[in-house]
Amino acid sequence: MTGPRVGVAGAGIAGTLLAWRLKLADRSLRVELVDAGSPERGATGASGGLVRGYEPDLAQLDLAASTLAELRASRLLRAWSGYQETGSVYLQADPADPAAVEHLERLLPGSARACPPGEAPYMAARHAVVERHAGFISPRRLRDEVLADFVRSGGRLVHGTVGGVRAGPGGTVSWQVDGRRRHYHSGVLATGPWTPVLLPGDEYRTKLIQYGVYDATGTVPAPFVDEVTGLYGRPGPGSGILLGVPSDAYDVDPAALRPVPALVRRTTDLAARIFPDLGITGLRHIVVAADCYTAPPGLRLRPAPPAVPHLFTFTGGSGGAAKTALAAARHAADRLLHDLAVPA
Ligand SMILES: Cc1cc2nc3c(=O)[nH]c(=O)nc-3n(C[C@H](O)[C@H](O)[C@H](O)COP(=O)(O)OP(=O)(O)OC[C@H]3O[C@@H](n4cnc5c(N)ncnc54)[C@H](O)[C@@H]3O)c2cc1C
Repeated sequence: MTGPRVGVAGAGIAGTLLAWRLKLADRSLRVELVDAGSPERGATGASGGLVRGYEPDLAQLDLAASTLAELRASRLLRAWSGYQETGSVYLQADPADPAAVEHLERLLPGSARACPPGEAPYMAARHAVVERHAGFISPRRLRDEVLADFVRSGGRLVHGTVGGVRAGPGGTVSWQVDGRRRHYHSGVLATGPWTPVLLPGDEYRTKLIQYGVYDATGTVPAPFVDEVTGLYGRPGPGSGILLGVPSDAYDVDPAALRPVPALVRRTTDLAARIFPDLGITGLRHIVVAADCYTAPPGLRLRPAPPAVPHLFTFTGGSGGAAKTALAAARHAADRLLHDLAVPA
């Protein structure tokens, strides 16, 4: 192989899908994926995996619905991700933008309907977007399968910790992996909640995300989000239910997180109010992890500080990017191929 060298740091779902897309788009590219070997502590290993097409923001909706459409159309991706189609309910205070619902209909025909108050499931006072073609996946399983296919396709996986990122000679990007400097024509930091360590400043921040898996009796609701209270959830595993609320804990250390009891109390109080027929009979376990936050939020390729040309980030999932990752990685790969002046 003699094509340009691309380095991707971080083999969570973001970096792995990007490296895989690049390798599949051009087999002559020398794509190296470097990971510090902590995926179980990253966002992908902890993710609840809710996937739906609807998002109030049109750009995010486009990525989420395109991801879901690709997932549903591919037997391989469905199997790799363990996709379970259960439907989904998005509850909000205001009516959905008709342009958003129209766009959703184009990408996932026959899936979504907007319900006015009185017709919304679970909370009659809310507007809702109810989707048939939505559900949940295992982002960790998808990442593991895609990583194996990346390696089968000739991609190189390097175990080690990336540091000392800087401009290299002749417009290259260089970084150090466990004492050895490596050079690339383009470099991408897909290091999720560890990105602020590599790129200090206030553009990339971490935020704690916590949910609980509970034993439940009664009818467990389909995956839902209530935008007003923040409560979200989905069925499973087994007869249980996953429930959580957003935290306001920013700038946390992703390697040293502890459960926040107040979030558990708020979650169970809200669940009892919104689902009075659901009996929560016990807490099985709490999952705490961090994700990388940016403004505006969303997983996409961003140029890193201008001092290092051809260095990008691919992160900023802000707690909800598993559902956009397939489409976001396709766009990011197209842009990188353009940056490398390799025909896409
Ligand atoms: C608890 C939780 C629940 C979530 N639930 C959902 C959901 O239901 N639906 C949804 O769509 N999204 C959800 N998300 C968001 C989504 O899962 C994340 O946005 C996504 O997994 C982020 O993936 P990532 O690859 O950017 O980061 P990560 O998965 O954190 O991967 C980062 C990788 O970088 C590696 N790394 C870090 N530093 C270095 C270094 N210096 N050198 C080399 N490698 C390094 C790590 O080892 C790790 O493998 C959730 C997130 C969390 C935390």
